[in-house]
Amino acid sequence: MLSPQKFFTVDIHTHIIPENLPRWKEKFGYGEFIHLEHHKPCCAKMMVDDAFFREIESNCWDPIQRLTECGHHHVDVQVLSTIPIMFSYWAEPKDGLEIAQFLNDHIAGVCSRYPKRFVGLGTLPMQHSELAIKELRRCKEIGLKGIQIGSHVNHLNLNDPSTFPIFEAMQDLDMALFVHPWWYSANKKMPDYWLPWLVGMPAETSLAICSMIFGGIFERLPRLRVAFAHGGGSFPSTIGRIEHGWHARPDLVAIDNPNNPKKYLGQFWLDSLVHDPKMLHYLIDLIGANRIALGSDYPFPLGEDNPGSLIRNCNFAPEITSQLLGTSALEWLNMHLSDFGR
Ligand SMILES: [Zn+2]
Repeated sequence: MLSPQKFFTVDIHTHIIPENLPRWKEKFGYGEFIHLEHHKPCCAKMMVDDAFFREIESNCWDPIQRLTECGHHHVDVQVLSTIPIMFSYWAEPKDGLEIAQFLNDHIAGVCSRYPKRFVGLGTLPMQHSELAIKELRRCKEIGLKGIQIGSHVNHLNLNDPSTFPIFEAMQDLDMALFVHPWWYSANKKMPDYWLPWLVGMPAETSLAICSMIFGGIFERLPRLRVAFAHGGGSFPSTIGRIEHGWHARPDLVAIDNPNNPKKYLGQFWLDSLVHDPKMLHYLIDLIGANRIALGSDYPFPLGEDNPGSLIRNCNFAPEITSQLLGTSALEWLNMHLSDFGR
């Protein structure tokens, strides 16, 4: 195994949340907004009204603890994004904007305190294009380097015309885009076995990639830098079927974009979170090591416990390892080693 200290390491997929959240339900007078109950030291319950959603620990909000753990994991930089349940796309647009501003200011604050260790992604009120673009511009001003969005917006897929101006503005503003699966289409069919996470999420990510390919987003916005979570979910393993569908039924598939979906392999990034060395090798064959970037889903249990270990344990050639651990991420973010004092 290669020395972990040897490679500049950026983790593009980590989640953070403020230690305390406003009681938005009381303020806005409706809805099922998340709040935190700090019921014992270093732990909090994420609650949706009175319903328990998830237990989180202080590494979810404490940057010092995160940096300590980064030291153990040999991670130089974490890219911070909110927890997808905070997207609140279902809220009134003005309330969604207020939530996004609160979360974005928090992430920007953490990044400004530790500019060589954290890079921030914002969240937007995607349910309202104008407000989303307004907040996107503000995100750029406060130093965030990109935006994280969900795999759909209130069940509109990412080819929906309402999202295109937001993507266009991201390209114009040179903001990276991270697409994370959330609130899975078939959730109600998956009550058992943690299936929304194991089956729903990978399907959601493939839905997002296919929507952006067939909707012509990548064709019309060739400079938009997009990364998808969880190694692209089920997309990479079903691209053969997807291409065959394009050949077999262009009347159904190629209605908004005439090009073969494989044209876009190598245009977008995937994170490395596949938990399987054979799958990681396959992703590199499919889209290139320069389009795969370490992503761990820190600090959650379905993520990689020791971020970067899958990549390091594969014993790739040093130039490949260097790309997977850091260089691909820098290219996606349009940042340079010098931005981190290297
Ligand atoms: Zn995640």
